[in-house]
Amino acid sequence: MNACLSDDALARAHADLASIAERAHLAACAACTARSRQMRRDLDLITAVLRDSREPLARVTRTRRRWLPAAVGLSAAAVALLWVEVAVWRAVTPVPPTMQPQEVAAILTDVSASLFSVSGDPASAPADAAPLSLESMAREVDSTLTGGEP
Ligand SMILES: [Zn+2]
Repeated sequence: MNACLSDDALARAHADLASIAERAHLAACAACTARSRQMRRDLDLITAVLRDSREPLARVTRTRRRWLPAAVGLSAAAVALLWVEVAVWRAVTPVPPTMQPQEVAAILTDVSASLFSVSGDPASAPADAAPLSLESMAREVDSTLTGGEP
């Protein structure tokens, strides 16, 4: 006896495309006849389901994704607007001016007079103790620390 038929050979037999030898084996082999009947039942069930079942409903996710291009477009527009706003903000915002050395010297003079005045009144500080330049203030601090004369 020949080897049993493959699934492809059984499918050919169902389609009446089997060879003479395959048909002869199918008629003589109980196992292949049982497999052929099972395959026929499966094919009949598949045919019935495909013929009698309703078409599946449209999936909800298909409608949900309709807003996706709009969302992507709006996000891109928001990013573009943010970029423009930052660019305009940078163009409009003035750069803070740096302090001039004279202003720094005046502030340091006021602070020094307030710190070193005995009476607490900056105006009563000695006139020679209020230098107007940073260099003279630095020399005074240096001489005070080193004990030398300015
Ligand atoms: Zn067989």
